Formats: sequence, C-alpha cells, structure tokens
Amino acid sequence: MSVESPGRYVGGEKNQIVKPITDGMVRTVFCFPDIYEIGMSNLALQILYKVLNGPEWSSCERAFSPWPDMDAKLRVNNIPLYSLETKSPLNEFDVAAFSLGYEMCFTNVLQMLDLGGIPLLSKDRSEEDPLVVAGGPVTCNIEPMADFFDAVFIGEGEEVDLEFTELIKKYKDEGKKDRKALLRDIAKIEGIYVPSLYTPKFEGRRFAGFDIEEGAPVSVKKRIIKDLDSVEYPTRPVVPNNNVVHDRAYLELFRGCIRGCRFCQAGFLYRPVREKSAKTLCEQGIEIMKNTGYDDLGMLSLSTSDYTGLPELTDGLLEDFKPKHQSLSLPSLRIDNFALELMEKASQTRKSGLTFAPEAGTQRLRDVINKGINEENIMSALKLAFAGGWSTVKLYFMLGLPTETMEDVEGIADLAIKIEKLYFDTMRELGGKSRKPEITVSTSMFIPKPFTPFQWEEQNTREEFLEKQSHLRNLLKKHRNIRYIWHDVETSCFEGILARGDRRLCPVILDGYKEGNIFAAWDQFYKDENWQAILARYDLKWEDFTKGWSTEDALPWDVIDVGVTKAFLKRERAKAYAETITENCRSKCAGCGAACYKAGICYE
Ligand code: SF4
Repeated sequence: MSVESPGRYVGGEKNQIVKPITDGMVRTVFCFPDIYEIGMSNLALQILYKVLNGPEWSSCERAFSPWPDMDAKLRVNNIPLYSLETKSPLNEFDVAAFSLGYEMCFTNVLQMLDLGGIPLLSKDRSEEDPLVVAGGPVTCNIEPMADFFDAVFIGEGEEVDLEFTELIKKYKDEGKKDRKALLRDIAKIEGIYVPSLYTPKFEGRRFAGFDIEEGAPVSVKKRIIKDLDSVEYPTRPVVPNNNVVHDRAYLELFRGCIRGCRFCQAGFLYRPVREKSAKTLCEQGIEIMKNTGYDDLGMLSLSTSDYTGLPELTDGLLEDFKPKHQSLSLPSLRIDNFALELMEKASQTRKSGLTFAPEAGTQRLRDVINKGINEENIMSALKLAFAGGWSTVKLYFMLGLPTETMEDVEGIADLAIKIEKLYFDTMRELGGKSRKPEITVSTSMFIPKPFTPFQWEEQNTREEFLEKQSHLRNLLKKHRNIRYIWHDVETSCFEGILARGDRRLCPVILDGYKEGNIFAAWDQFYKDENWQAILARYDLKWEDFTKGWSTEDALPWDVIDVGVTKAFLKRERAKAYAETITENCRSKCAGCGAACYKAGICYE
C-alpha cells in the first residue's frame, strides 16, 4: 500500500486467464515496457493474450513496467518482477515477449529484464533463460536494441506467434537444449528476424550492410493476416480494475490506410488495407459489451472515415446500444454531414471537441507530405460543425517537415486565425449568440522514420525546432481564443536518434539504463544531459543518425521487407520534392509493392 496505484501489480481482473502450470507447457509472459494503465489499453496485448492462451499446452500471462516507486521496493526487498496471473518471476517463463510501440520505451525493456532476473544481453543467456522476443511497429528497425533480443517478429502476430510457440514446444518435447540451433530454426520461420545471425559492418561512421550467417534469410518478410474476418479477436478482453488510458471496449475495423501520407510510418508498414466486414464487427461489438460490462465502445483503425461499412456498422451497433444506455466512442472523423449526424447520434453527452490534423500550415507543404486535404475542405467542414453547435477545435501540426520554411510555420498561425474568424462569421450569419470558441493548436516535431518516403531526410536540429516553436508562439500570443501547446524538443530529438539508429546504440541504451534513465517517454524522467554524455562516451553524435542518407546508401533496416519497395519510396520522395500528390489506394493503385501479399484492397 506504500506505492502509487497498487492495483497495477495485483492482477485478478475480470476475464483474466489463469492456467495451471503443467509439465511441457510453453509459458509466455507478455511484457509491456510501460505502466499498466498504458499497457492495458494496448490491443495487441489483448489479441495475443487470447491467441497464446488458445492451445491447452500454451499459456500467456502479463507483466508491466513497475513505476519507479515499485521498482525501488522490488529491488530493496529482493522481489523479482512477476507476472500478474501466477505471480511467477519473469525468468521462470519460456518466452518473455515484449510489445514495442515506441522507441522511448527501450530502457524499460532492460528494467523489466533486470528486475525479472533475465540477463540483459542475448549473448549472456543460457539454456535455462527465457527467449526474449519483441513485436510491434518499432521492430522494423530493432538495431538499437539488437543485442538484447533473441528474436523479433515483423508484422502481425496472430499466426507467427503460434508457429514460434509450436517450435519451442517441439524442442521441449524432444528435450533438446541447444539455444544456438533453436535460434537458427526460429530464423527459418517467415517473419522472424534473429539479430545475432547478422553482423553489421561500418565504413568510417557509416553503416555499410550486414555479414549474414549461412542459412539466415537475406531479407525477413513481414507477416500479415489476409482475412481479418476469420482471425481470432478478443471478445472477452481482460477488464482492468484501475482507470486506464482508454477505459473502454474496442473494435478493430481494418488494418492499413489508403492515404499514404508521406511522413506516416504506420501508413506504409501496415499495407495493404484489409477491412473486416460490418456484420462481423457488429457481432463482435455486441459480444464484447456483454462480456465486459463496459458501457462505451471505441473504434480502432488508422482512419475510421475510410471504413466502407461505417454507416451499416454504426446503425447496427447503435440500435443494440441505445436501449442499454451504451455509447459509441468515435475517433476523429473526416468531418462532413454524415460524420456530424453520427456524432450527434452516438454521443450521450454534450458535444465533444473536434480534431483535425492538417499537419502543415500551407497547401504547398500539405502537398509535399501528401496530406490530401486543402483549406477549403477544412473550412467547409468547420462551418458545418460550428453551425451544428460545435465550438471546440483541436488542430495538430508538425514542425520540421522536409522543405519547410518559416512561411509554412506562419501558415499554421494564419489557418488558426482564419478558423477563429470563421466561427464568429458563422455565428453572425445564423444570428445566434456566440460563445467563445476554443481553438487549440498543437505542434509535434517531425521525426523521419524507416519505411517512409522521408526515411533518408535530415531531421531539424533542436535549435531549428526551438526557433520555429518560438516564432509560432509569438504569432499566436495575442489571440485569446487560440491556445498553443507544443511537445518537448529534446525528447523528440532523442527519439530521432533511436528511430534510425544502428547497433552502435546498444551500449548507449545499456549505459542509459544502468544510470537510471527509465520511462524516457515521460518528460519528467528524461535526462538529456546524461544521454548526451553517454553518446559522447561512445564517440557518437546526434548527426550520425539524423543527418540523413543518400537514396543509394545501405540502411540499417534494409534486411527487413515490409512489402513496400524501396523503388516506390524513392518515387514518392521525388514526388514530395515536386510537390505532387499521389492518389489514395482506393481511387488508383500507386504500385507500392504490397500487392505481393495478394490480399486486401489491392485485390478487391
Ligand atoms: S499495392 Fe496499390 S492499392 Fe495496394 S497498398 Fe500499394 S498502392 Fe495501395
């Protein structure tokens, strides 16, 4: 009771699965390298928890990063980090499987391994230690963490996780204890990358490719689920006892995104677009509510407005929900008449705020990033919304996009000011009494990510970011109805290093952990000076990872194949510089390469 929020560490929630531990069982602990409240909002956790608890010979339990107060208690009292289900120390499992959603959680992986009694480095683990693996979007460039993982999963896990677990089972049943041979066999499973079989080469300060051990694939191909209707979905998810970040049930509408915004890694990583049918979703939505007791259902996808069955799905769900006083929680939708009507129907309470992500302040820059919306779209949507009674708008932008000038930064302020004027004009036209609008402008820093057309770009320096932030602050400070909020520059610069980093960063991350840098994604714990000192210790500079590359250079993530070809990314980059847009996948195929999966929208 002396730690904050003890409910994080006890388990016992509704729908938790506790299997008796039996001989020969393959035991996996799903590790989330952040606190319980964030991890329990993660859909991958709920999906894989169900999948791996499916066969009777396989079990899956959960563990989360302990907050610093609990971390200290565990160390002082010599208690190993344990799973919530059977309270087993992490080192008693066969597999410790991490979900990596963002780079800033890297040191928390080491915290969990260390507290769980598992050697931090893959090379130091013995036959008795668990296999330490990872999945999630960050694994498309796992090089900065390559020394710590025995294997990583590329792409969607529902099928490959079971194939992997079956292989462990086979080794167990045969009593085979040869970790090196097991890792070589694991590398033969499509979609699994075993970093120890790949030795990076450097020329001067530059990454220059890999020496690949014989038998390991030259390229590791992403796995996808072709038919989402037939794949397992957690309709009986674990219901947390604590208040978590997204405290509701969830439906996943589709994977992938038709849009192809050039900065967005998810838009390229999850191709091709595959939808679930509205019928399946309706049935699953109703069942989840029954099995959990939630009164609110959220919808998950990269762009919900693009889901073709949205009217049918929302009508079906609302018909069932209304008499039970259950509600649908709508993500930010592309605003049009349909969306506004839907928002009216779905919400049980007062009108919530509207969110827009123009990402850039000028049309020129929106074309560079292939955002696919123009000022007219935004203004006509907002006019409709203001006339319908909405008065709170949140606008998301990025600073530091390729080719950005101060004119583009000023365009952000201009757009926000025009929206403020539009609100008052609309109210005047309607002759109604106007309240004050609440307009929030939020900026984050653009971080070039692998597998996007901007993967070769130079990232803005912290000085450039700070200058842009301060310019925007000055432009907006006189506007009382406009609030400007911004992200921390230092953490974004560090994320930029990790996102396109290579194996030279492994000792940096290890030292960072040893020197107490955990929860780096939390501004209050991020220690920039310490990280800079550690980089210098290894003769590394920020520029080594963020200065950019020529399109002919070898990249640390070249060994991974996500289906989208380098030739396509180069074409998209050239189109960005020519300020030319690419149509969305539904109106015209751009030949990205993801058609190799013979699934989804490319084959409809
Ligand atoms: S192959 Fe064509 S339609 Fe399919 S994801 Fe790529 S660009 Fe879109």
